[in-house]
Amino acid sequence: MPEVATKSKLQGASFLTRDTDPQDVFISQEWSEEQRMIFQMVQDFCLKEIQEPMLKSGKELDAATDREQIIALLEKSAQLGLCGIGIEEAYGGMDLDFNTGLLFSEAIAQGFSFATTIGAQTSIGSLPIVFYGNEDQKSRYLPGIASAELKAAYCLTEPSAGSDANSGKTSAVLNEEGSHYLLNGQKMWITNGGFADIFIVFAKIDQDKDLSAFIVEKEFGGITIGAEERKLGIKGSSTVQVFFDNCPVPVENLLYKRGSGFKIALNILNTGRIKLGASTNGGCKFALTRGIQYAIDRKQFEKSIAEFGAMKHKIGEMASRTYCIDAGIYRTGHLIDQKTEELKMDGEAPSMAKIKAVREFAIECSILKIKGSENIDYCIDEVLQIFGGMGYAVETGIEMGYRDARITRIYEGTNEINRLLSVAELTKRALKTKELDLMTAGKKIPGSVLKNLSPFKRRKDLSEEARLVNGIKQSFLLISGSAGKKLREKLVDEQEIVMNMADILAEAFVCESALLKVQKVRANKLEDKQRRKIQKKMVQLYIYEALDRARKSAKDAIASYAKGLEKTGLNQLMGRLLPEYDVNPKKLRRQIADYVIANKGFDF
Ligand SMILES: Cc1cc2nc3c(=O)[nH]c(=O)nc-3n(C[C@H](O)[C@H](O)[C@H](O)COP(=O)(O)OP(=O)(O)OC[C@H]3O[C@@H](n4cnc5c(N)ncnc54)[C@H](O)[C@@H]3O)c2cc1C
Repeated sequence: MPEVATKSKLQGASFLTRDTDPQDVFISQEWSEEQRMIFQMVQDFCLKEIQEPMLKSGKELDAATDREQIIALLEKSAQLGLCGIGIEEAYGGMDLDFNTGLLFSEAIAQGFSFATTIGAQTSIGSLPIVFYGNEDQKSRYLPGIASAELKAAYCLTEPSAGSDANSGKTSAVLNEEGSHYLLNGQKMWITNGGFADIFIVFAKIDQDKDLSAFIVEKEFGGITIGAEERKLGIKGSSTVQVFFDNCPVPVENLLYKRGSGFKIALNILNTGRIKLGASTNGGCKFALTRGIQYAIDRKQFEKSIAEFGAMKHKIGEMASRTYCIDAGIYRTGHLIDQKTEELKMDGEAPSMAKIKAVREFAIECSILKIKGSENIDYCIDEVLQIFGGMGYAVETGIEMGYRDARITRIYEGTNEINRLLSVAELTKRALKTKELDLMTAGKKIPGSVLKNLSPFKRRKDLSEEARLVNGIKQSFLLISGSAGKKLREKLVDEQEIVMNMADILAEAFVCESALLKVQKVRANKLEDKQRRKIQKKMVQLYIYEALDRARKSAKDAIASYAKGLEKTGLNQLMGRLLPEYDVNPKKLRRQIADYVIANKGFDF
């Protein structure tokens, strides 16, 4: 169990306003033996039950033809306890802490599209009951979900209600006897819908402004399941439309309170977002290792292609991005565990404490969903390029990975919606609820920049990097402050600027998390000297690239709302906050690549 932070109340997004001691962050080197065993068990399951049979048959799973196989996989995974990872032990689950749950998400990515199937079972399809169900609902449904006797699905999206989920038209009307709600409506893109026994359905009671949530059994009747959708990727996961025609739902199956469905939906999505960050990062590690191994074996011009600088560039870059996003994922997972403990000590019930803790770190969850999903698209595209023509062929499975990866930028809230949310949530906490004092932090910037004119010096203690990362944080505060002042309520309609802000925010968080991780690794002399050095180089390369991206976002934003002297002044401040970082990126990429190539894979 994680230690409780006693120093101060843990606060989401406080990375913007506070410095963190590297010793306070969780890093992956600290996984316990038990956690490593869980990872290994999931990895072995994926290898034996999914990868090997797929290689043997030469065919990827397809929900349209292999439904029984997919169901059997879910049931086999349940025998290992994997369908109950988030369910309390009293209801037959493993009740893993949040960070170990993320480790599970990383490992299950090696099961390709099955990761989506089990993800729906263990996350969106069951967590609404885990977090919001009453005693009776939990005992009726959770044991069945943990054993996979019951297959679960989550029905939020409708043909006319996607990103704008609260605009759904599915209705719930109480019958005359007051015993049942009659559900009518149409849901679409429902994962596991083709074989699910229970559905978490979001619908509006009468003319309510907000959705309510219901636990709906297929047995209730009045439910029609559409044909399997024909999709670009994740073909092995069932995706269907679900139609409700006077489906009678007993009143006791209303989840939590009337009108609280949208809140439930959003809170469950926060959980799903960081889990998706972890599983996409697992996918990156897996794909990168395959790319490295292929590059070693493939000979052209009488050399292994891994010896070519162009290939090393790709390998070094993928390794650096994956390592740094990883640091953000497990730092946040641990903070969520610590916050859960803090809330429990304040008297909150365990399940409510967990969901509230996730809510506290909603901004980080959105950032990690965006970063993870964009990195898997980047990595799988580069790995396919390393494989050349063989990457384009079905037999290597790389083209499947390329197609499978694309969905991650769309579901659990599109990346545009997550960018908007990260900034909107931050603005709310700064201006409305006043939980975060961004104003004071922002006001100090011009003075601190002028005081801090000394040139950067390369130091072993990574203080130069710390100053650069702080500069990225400050550049976010500066832009958000000046754009907010200038545009006020019009800022929400200037989405391009909000996107720029979200990108700087995400870079600040990932850079800081990676820097703290490597500082801790070095301070505690974890692993051998060479591995410590490589980790430092991966972080340096990431900061070098992140500075470039942040500079571009800041320049675009400033040019969109400032003119004349204000624009010149802001650009000058940006020049100081985001200065050139004098490293040799080619050398860094080569050194990183040489290490992972010699190691025959990425194992950080
Ligand atoms: C394979 C698959 C599985 C899925 N599984 C499930 C599931 O199990 N349960 C479930 O309920 N749903 C599921 N979904 C639905 C998924 O969550 C939605 O597709 C997603 O939320 C986007 O909604 P949409 O497709 O209607 O796109 P839209 O909302 O129509 O968005 C289209 C584009 O417009 C942009 N956009 C929309 N609104 C804004 C805005 N305010 N500002 C700026 N840009 C905007 C989006 O970012 C996107 O680029 C699944 C989808 C797929 C494809």
